[in-house]
Amino acid sequence: MVERTPYDMAVEQLDKCAKIMKLDPNTHEMLKYPKRVLSVFIPIKMDNGKIKVFKGFRSQHNDALGPFKGGVRYHPGVTIEEVMALSIWMTWKCSVAGIPLGGGKGGIICNPKEMSAGELERLSREYFAAISGIVGPEKDVPAPDVNTGGKEMAWFLDEFNKLNRGNFPGVVTGKPLEIGGSKGRAEATGRGLSFVAREAAKKLGIDFKKADVAVQGFGNVGSYSAKFMEEFGCKVIALSDSKGGIYNPKGFHVDDVEKYKAKNGQLAGYPGAKEISNEDLLELKCDILIPAALENQITAKNADKIKAKLILEGANGPTTPEADEILFKKGVMVVPDILTNAGGVSVSYFEWVQNLQNYYWCYEEVVQKLDRLMTDAFNATYAAYTKYKVDMRMAAYVCAVERVVNAMRLKGWC
Ligand code: NAD
Repeated sequence: MVERTPYDMAVEQLDKCAKIMKLDPNTHEMLKYPKRVLSVFIPIKMDNGKIKVFKGFRSQHNDALGPFKGGVRYHPGVTIEEVMALSIWMTWKCSVAGIPLGGGKGGIICNPKEMSAGELERLSREYFAAISGIVGPEKDVPAPDVNTGGKEMAWFLDEFNKLNRGNFPGVVTGKPLEIGGSKGRAEATGRGLSFVAREAAKKLGIDFKKADVAVQGFGNVGSYSAKFMEEFGCKVIALSDSKGGIYNPKGFHVDDVEKYKAKNGQLAGYPGAKEISNEDLLELKCDILIPAALENQITAKNADKIKAKLILEGANGPTTPEADEILFKKGVMVVPDILTNAGGVSVSYFEWVQNLQNYYWCYEEVVQKLDRLMTDAFNATYAAYTKYKVDMRMAAYVCAVERVVNAMRLKGWC
């Protein structure tokens, strides 16, 4: 059997959504493809004096709502199909979040773990120079993704500034604060998730003050999600990382767990907690489950054993389509990744807005604006959920595609 690429999956999801919303076939056809995919070959002088040519991509799917937006990943497994699919998903994520940006994504086939700081800097600068004709604050705004962060964004920005003889902080987001980053960016995804959780709990009649929460993954998304859920009054009863999980029905103080993890490099061994596996964590008796680690964690094998009433996808793609069906039949609400973890891209949008204004907001202003944005995004998805009687994932897709299609129609594209 031929394995489906991420691009095949992105198109299948669009096909399913098109059927539900009775999308006109011509518009449907247009949305299957990116507007443009640029492939670049980047010769880099390695530290040993030899030239190595790296391959990179930038895919721009749809900019009906605004400039393309999406991260750049450095990974040996990057493929053109993956970058195309990720740019499609970015279109839907920006749209469902209600931000005036389109979908883009970039990647370089490389293994940054085997490269020196100098080699990485040369590669980053040359990649950005190679794609500089199609990026810009009003065209396409890259950001960090797998194996990239503030350091790479600073190099991208500097290269763009040099090529264009000026200062254009809005050309990338995820920058360090000192050169135009936004306050609140680091914790934005977890913070946004907690606002979505609050709204979903209201609809399901879950009392936050009495809610038990289990979180899989204790990295950026998982640890901040746990922290903000605790701040809202929930009891965080289980946490995990790649080395295993910890459980305490009385609840954890997330800050203390964080200190333990920083000191010991793992959660296992945390005093007073029962050690559990990542599989056990997913099947625990709890009200809210937050998968915030990897894809394909909730599958046809364990979906039936899940006891949570509400699942919030902090990670990208933690639930398989088969599991979705089982959970929908069981009456478990799964709030999909494109909505739940859109807090990150939303604060990236805020960063871009601040860069364009050259006026920077205080932390409280960022949080307040994020709350409004995530709450509106949840409510719009919930409205589609009740209108079309589909699961929340399809509702989010329908909502996202409708907005993009309306913008395309108004601009006379279809
Ligand atoms: P991270 O690397 O900071 O953290 C990942 C965590 O998962 C770590 O604690 C790691 O130990 C744990 N983990 C790894 N394998 C595991 C396993 N088998 N079982 C349980 N835990 C395991 O990554 P992150 O930035 O928190 O991203 C997590 C997910 O959220 C990814 O799917 C990512 O694409 C998605 N996401 C992240 C952001 C963001 O702003 N960071 C935004 C949107 C989506």
